[in-house]
Amino acid sequence: MDKVDIQDSPFPKSPVIPTLYEGTKTIQFRCHKEIECFNACCKNIDITLTPYDVLRLKKRLGQTSGEFLLQYTVPFEMGPGDIAGIKMLPKSGTSQCQFMTDEGCSVYEDRPAACRYYPVALVSMRKQNEYIDKDAYAVVQESHCLGHNEQRTLTIDEYRKEQGLVEYDELSRGWRQLILKKKSSGPSVGTPTKRSLQMFFMASYDVDRFKEFVTSDAFNEVYDIPEDEMKKIANDDVELMQFGYRLIRQVMFDEPSIATKTDALDKRLARKKEREEFMDGIVAKLGPLESVTPDDKYNHLD
Ligand code: SF4
Ligand code: SF4
Repeated sequence: MDKVDIQDSPFPKSPVIPTLYEGTKTIQFRCHKEIECFNACCKNIDITLTPYDVLRLKKRLGQTSGEFLLQYTVPFEMGPGDIAGIKMLPKSGTSQCQFMTDEGCSVYEDRPAACRYYPVALVSMRKQNEYIDKDAYAVVQESHCLGHNEQRTLTIDEYRKEQGLVEYDELSRGWRQLILKKKSSGPSVGTPTKRSLQMFFMASYDVDRFKEFVTSDAFNEVYDIPEDEMKKIANDDVELMQFGYRLIRQVMFDEPSIATKTDALDKRLARKKEREEFMDGIVAKLGPLESVTPDDKYNHLD
């Protein structure tokens, strides 16, 4: 495999660079209820959540994003003074997941991407001198996990499909690219302002508050969102989440994809200027207007 910069390692504290694989790599693994280590991985959690994880879980629990964040997550800085991530908050006084029960995961159908991936880990990376992110995978071997001894083999791609990760990865791709971009650009994009950090947090995780913000008069005084697009954003959380990725890209990296009213004003002013220049051109051709008859005017425009 090519030499890579690992930007989002699942082993942040380890100096050892994991072996990276492509999706075609075959692994030996099976997890099931009868296995001796059942629930062992949910007893000591360190799970970073994506915006799509939050959407799925808050919907499952019938909560607002604010309620979910308060009850089930804890924020962390991805670097000093940098954008925030969120992790699952373990059950009080323990390191176990709040969703763990004796029967297994109580939110199984909506469990986070990191839980679906385990014992595989998705590693976002960038080839040296290229700004194209590429997915690679690492396999985490922990002694408590006995699933590696089970007699079942499948490729990582097959495992991802089985675990419903194709949809999760697709809907998180835009956000992971933002994180990768932020980490690889370092100081070149400058220190993020407090306001942009707040906007990143709200657009990434606090989707209900973000919806209020996007549908507010104040927002619509600045941004020029077509009516049908605004309808979609206001009625579909996935559309809203993806609009959030675009807004973050625009605000933090100056990569505009959302028209502002200033743009519209600029365009109007440019058209006005064009009209004035056109009229000036006519006047220059005609000479002083009072020296020609109405018929002469139109002859001069041929
Ligand atoms: S969300 Fe479910 S699978 Fe993930 S750690 Fe919690 S109990 Fe385990
Ligand atoms: S096999 Fe691994 S993933 Fe499955 S319950 Fe045991 S420790 Fe968790």
